[in-house]
Amino acid sequence: MAKICLCLTAKTIERNLEILDKYRKFADLAELRVDCLDPGERLFIRRFPEMAGMPIILTIRRDIDGGYFTGGEGARVKLLAQGLAYANDDARYNFAYVDIEEDFDVPSLEEAARTFGTRIIRSCHNMNGVIDDIPAKIKSMQRAGDEIVKMAIVVKSTEDVLRVYQASKACTGQDKIFICMGHYGIYSRILAEKFGSFLTYSSALSENETPGASGQLDVRELAELYRFQKITKKTKIFGVAGYPLKASISPWFFNTIFGLENADAVYVPFPANSVSALLDIAKELDVQGLSVTVPYKEAALPSLAGSSLAVQSIGACNTIYRSSNGWFGENTDCAGFSDSLLTFLDKKNLKRQKVSIIGAGGAARAVAAEIYRMGGKALILNRTINKARNVASQYNFRWGGLDNQGIELMAMSNYSDIIIQTTSVGMEGYDDVDPLELYTFTGKEAVMDLIYTPPETPFLKRAAAAGCRIINGYDMVIRQACLQYALFMDREIPHQLLSRINTSGAETWNKIRTG
Ligand code: NAP
Repeated sequence: MAKICLCLTAKTIERNLEILDKYRKFADLAELRVDCLDPGERLFIRRFPEMAGMPIILTIRRDIDGGYFTGGEGARVKLLAQGLAYANDDARYNFAYVDIEEDFDVPSLEEAARTFGTRIIRSCHNMNGVIDDIPAKIKSMQRAGDEIVKMAIVVKSTEDVLRVYQASKACTGQDKIFICMGHYGIYSRILAEKFGSFLTYSSALSENETPGASGQLDVRELAELYRFQKITKKTKIFGVAGYPLKASISPWFFNTIFGLENADAVYVPFPANSVSALLDIAKELDVQGLSVTVPYKEAALPSLAGSSLAVQSIGACNTIYRSSNGWFGENTDCAGFSDSLLTFLDKKNLKRQKVSIIGAGGAARAVAAEIYRMGGKALILNRTINKARNVASQYNFRWGGLDNQGIELMAMSNYSDIIIQTTSVGMEGYDDVDPLELYTFTGKEAVMDLIYTPPETPFLKRAAAAGCRIINGYDMVIRQACLQYALFMDREIPHQLLSRINTSGAETWNKIRTG
């Protein structure tokens, strides 16, 4: 089974030991990044394995390989020799592993390491993307049968991750470590067992030490939320696909439920640069179902073998799952939205209600369809007016721009019983502004913002300050996720589990999100 390695990147030995003590229960081994230590501290590395009390990798990463060691090769060899010197007969007092690069060539040092049970990790760091013929490269790198060969590659696309995965499948019969560094490779770190990797590297992110390699996950999150140590080759994979996939609540929601019910399933983020590349990697990894988010809700449609009537009429899907013919598309935003809104308003339908919908993207399409189904009348205002017109004309709604004219139309025609904000403006990582700043709330409007991170956008804050009743998108996202769960798992979400996560849900999620 793949192991979790905690990277220790503090400037002092003492601080590394403090971090190790705090997080050791989540890791199987740790890596001492000597290149991150203050120069004076490097004199004391020899006793680190004994003080740490767990298997330790000795690593002195050069700056050309993404590390912080800028001294000459002679100085590095000397440091490595110091770390491996005076080997003890009891292997627990020695470094369990030493990470040395493919171009490192000091046979005496390597021989000494082997003699006292220190395994060599022979590494290659490629910061410029995927190289050709990885299996041949792996073969050429390994100098002795017990070496673990490590290939760490900065991936720049989903296609890159796919190539690394295929290469890892082709390299059988040896211990190896495959790491896809960077945002696109995040799931390769969680699914290390599926990628055939001996270990995955992680950090104690909240300790704010020198950053490790890009894309590393927090060690606690990996162990507790993703239940890394329980992932086997048979574990069912689900996930959320989109780009850039900032602040999605879904991994927290699904993995918490899977953990509570002890399901052999994991839900991971799949940042993807195109729908076709996403579906290729999903096929390779045998992914069973995906939540689809910005910007692929519409772009995914041509790749589906079938879809629900809701998806066909709205032209956007937020869920795809496997059917006998291929991927089937569904839109759980619709029911998630209407259930949440009707509960909030304490109404059974929207007859005689005039609604303004801000935005005309994928989410707005679901919102418009549901408002029409529930008997409401709507005005759609969007930055790109054409898109507002396209959505509105399907339901005989009115439309306008997010400008003075649009706002005037909204006020004059009284589309203000309910205002629903569906743009990504105000969401964490996007513009922190109010998309409806030209409108003055009277305090009588019921206001919903589909965004839930942050819990109150500038738009929602202003509505609350004017005395409006407000709701954010948290309740909606949980409702639509419950519907996704039923499609993914082919059963209703167990009610007792949902109530356990719902009671503390919003606060827990926000704590996780903000660290
Ligand atoms: P989308 O299809 O990409 O649509 C984005 C919308 O935001 C478009 O109307 C776009 O206008 C508008 N927009 C983007 N930047 C803007 C700016 N600077 N000024 C004005 N308008 C801007 O995204 P989506 O799938 O509809 O999602 C939109 C939001 O809803 C996201 O924040 C998402 O997290 C949230 N959402 C929440 C839930 C939930 O369950 N709570 C479900 C679905 C979506 P243009 O057409 O002019 O580009």
